[in-house]
Amino acid sequence: AKQSGRDNYQFYTPAMNAQALERLRIEGDLRIALERNEFLLHYQPKINLRSGRIVGMEALIRWNHPELGMVSPARFISLAEETGLILPIGSWVIRTACEQVRAWQEAGLGNMRVSVNLSVRQFVQKDLVSSIAKVLQETGLDADFLELELTESLVMTDVEHAIGILRELKDLGVHLSIDDFGTGYSSLSYLKKFPIDVLKIDKSFVRDITLDADDAAITVSIISLAHSLKLHVIAEGVETEEQLSYLRQHGCDEMQGYLFSPPVPPERFVELLQEKNDT
Ligand code: C2E
Ligand code: CA
Ligand code: CA
Ligand code: CA
Repeated sequence: AKQSGRDNYQFYTPAMNAQALERLRIEGDLRIALERNEFLLHYQPKINLRSGRIVGMEALIRWNHPELGMVSPARFISLAEETGLILPIGSWVIRTACEQVRAWQEAGLGNMRVSVNLSVRQFVQKDLVSSIAKVLQETGLDADFLELELTESLVMTDVEHAIGILRELKDLGVHLSIDDFGTGYSSLSYLKKFPIDVLKIDKSFVRDITLDADDAAITVSIISLAHSLKLHVIAEGVETEEQLSYLRQHGCDEMQGYLFSPPVPPERFVELLQEKNDT
């Protein structure tokens, strides 16, 4: 019941025409959004379930469109991927996230790790590793404080090639996480070959964890799989105390979700750090 609208037929309608027009417009505007400085990053805290402290954050892009207001990544990331615009946008994201976290470290707010989502186009880009090395060098952020979130499909498309890139990234010292784990097709036998550090349980499992025995079983299996492979495991989309206590009981390491905080602008993130971590 988690997938819908897979095989609905599409007919040409005036509404579709409007949709196509909106798409064209967004595409055009996306091309100039970077130079107009319209992107920003919000940060969502990651909480260690044992200490209750903020140990890191996920950087999530937002687009402040002059007429449409805040446009969510759901509306433009896939378009950015199709057009290749994700390359300059993705570089901007990595650089901005590294600069931000470095600035927070220098301000004495703690040594938290920032994670950044990586798209397929970025992953297969030839100079990915060298460009990340360059950003780390230029911002002065230690590689240990940068984590890349990759999806299963991204690493499973060309496994041998992916392993090569992942190794190079590990050699740099960055952390690697598999996002939305459980929703894609990943082969368990490959999982142990990937030099990754973290599995992130998809929010679709977390949502019904206390209501649906299957989702609960999948979640518990992912936690034990991760631990037997010596990986950390984080749950995303945690919205209720019940979900939190279930995850804690089953040994999940970290969590992220509206229960603690939605993604917030940098100023608000600093307040959260001061409130919760006493920095
Ligand atoms: P994702 O990487 O799976 O990110 C998690 C999404 O879940 C975020 O949506 C976040 O705001 C939302 N979320 C967080 N806590 C909760 C919760 O408790 N309940 C629910 N229902 N949702 C929660 P957002 O920010 O709209 O981002 C959507 C997707 O867009 C991301 O999914 C990611 O795939 C993509 N994205 C966002 N920023 C970037 C980026 O900088 N680069 C790339 N390539 N993709 C990005
Ligand atoms: Ca993510
Ligand atoms: Ca996710
Ligand atoms: Ca997702």
